[in-house]
Amino acid sequence: ESAVLSRIGLAGLAVMGQNLALNVADKGFPISVYNRTPSKVDETVQRAAAEGGLPLTGHHSPRDFVLSLSRPRSVVILVKAGAPVDQTIATLSEFLEPGDAIVDGGNEWYENTERRMRETAARGILYLGMGVSGGEEGARNGPSLMPGGSLKAYQNIQDILSKVAAQVDDGPCVTYIGEGGSGNFVKMVHNGIEYGDMQLISEAYDVLKTVGGLSNQELADIFAEWNRGELESFLIEITADIFKVRDEHSEGELVDKILDKTGMKGTGKWTVQQAAELSIAAPTIAASLDGRYLSGLKDERENAASILDQAGLETPTLRSVDKKRLIDDVRQALYASKICSYAQGMNLIRAKSAEKGWNLNLGELARIWKGGCIIRARFLDRIKQAYERNLGLPNLIVDPEFAREMVQRQGAWRRVVGLAIESGISTPGMCASLSYFDTYRRARLPANLVQAQRDLFGAHTYERIDRPGSFHTEWTKLA
Ligand code: NAP
Repeated sequence: ESAVLSRIGLAGLAVMGQNLALNVADKGFPISVYNRTPSKVDETVQRAAAEGGLPLTGHHSPRDFVLSLSRPRSVVILVKAGAPVDQTIATLSEFLEPGDAIVDGGNEWYENTERRMRETAARGILYLGMGVSGGEEGARNGPSLMPGGSLKAYQNIQDILSKVAAQVDDGPCVTYIGEGGSGNFVKMVHNGIEYGDMQLISEAYDVLKTVGGLSNQELADIFAEWNRGELESFLIEITADIFKVRDEHSEGELVDKILDKTGMKGTGKWTVQQAAELSIAAPTIAASLDGRYLSGLKDERENAASILDQAGLETPTLRSVDKKRLIDDVRQALYASKICSYAQGMNLIRAKSAEKGWNLNLGELARIWKGGCIIRARFLDRIKQAYERNLGLPNLIVDPEFAREMVQRQGAWRRVVGLAIESGISTPGMCASLSYFDTYRRARLPANLVQAQRDLFGAHTYERIDRPGSFHTEWTKLA
């Protein structure tokens, strides 16, 4: 056992844990590390030595690991979400004492965090559920951190988290999110928004490639150019890089050799389930989830393509397009679609916050997403400002600045979606965003007819536009 106690401990040394531990050590905080499989402890300690940061204190025994921490102890857990977290807590909490804290940094379902909070509280142990975004690179050099739960547990490691997180112009990308499982919930919605962004980018790619006939080199150049403007973001940047990578096994670029079947781990699905639970429309995020499901049906899609081809389906003949104009239109369509998607995610967070009494600060969430995380983007600063201007903003679309931008872009947006539909190219995310915009902005919808139908077949009653009260009509007698 080392004589000098560590400030913090980290259990779980896969991709995320190993990189986060090195990051903590780089910032000058003595840290102890532990992993169920001991070889990873040695590997992590060796890697730290090779990378020249503060040495890590590695432990094979959970007891020695816990006892190597200064009190009150803080132990970050970064293992597979679900049962492994419970097992790790069971292993470590045997040696923890009242006042010590457990910080789960995994992509955990927020209710699991709330259950564990109750369980550990019974033994006086504090608990934080902390969303960590930024993947391997973020964990190593500065992630976006979303800690929720015990404020005391947060305060105990606030100095560490502030140094470890990504740094942007207005501070570190970490803030105390709120009580209970709010940190995990916000991370979940972050991932849902990430699904939406990736879907929208893939649609922009599809339209430019399939309708506009752009080559991978042209796509790389366009995305790199977009990344110097209002679309500047991590996802646009990496997309530009992807188009440049050549295939090492054959001619051409690697992107064209990748099977068109998307994997997923569940946070997008949870986001859409939560949106439904809370009656929040999140059509762009839902479209991105459906897009992943449909992508998975590769065999069925190949079969459908051939059957519909035999049935005489003609791909609409593509009219010649003005490439330059198309590129500019797609850029605007992407931006406008993105605003709608973020509006949905933010409204989901707000609804959950109201339900749970979390009191979440949407502007501050936009701020800590400006750096470190996968959805980091220049325009998040504008979202932050929109919520600062108006805390109760019902929808990003009606912030005066975003409203102006939506109006400026709607012509281009409609041209892209229209062209895609005419060309038989599906753009479900862009369509969902445009429909969301067109539904939300209309003072009168055809919902009057739905109400009439409900009243006719189920006597569900309806309200009138011209007088108060609830009404029922014997429709069939009058028809
Ligand atoms: P992971 O592949 O999700 O999990 C591997 C780690 O979990 C290993 O340390 C493994 O220990 C441990 N583990 C698994 N079952 C266990 C059990 N029953 N008892 C104790 N330990 C167990 O690792 P990861 O990719 O680094 O992710 C960690 C967490 O961060 C996850 O919740 C993930 O969703 C989240 N996250 C990941 C990323 C990413 O880019 N990868 C980004 C953000 C968030 P052994 O070595 O002993 O098997």
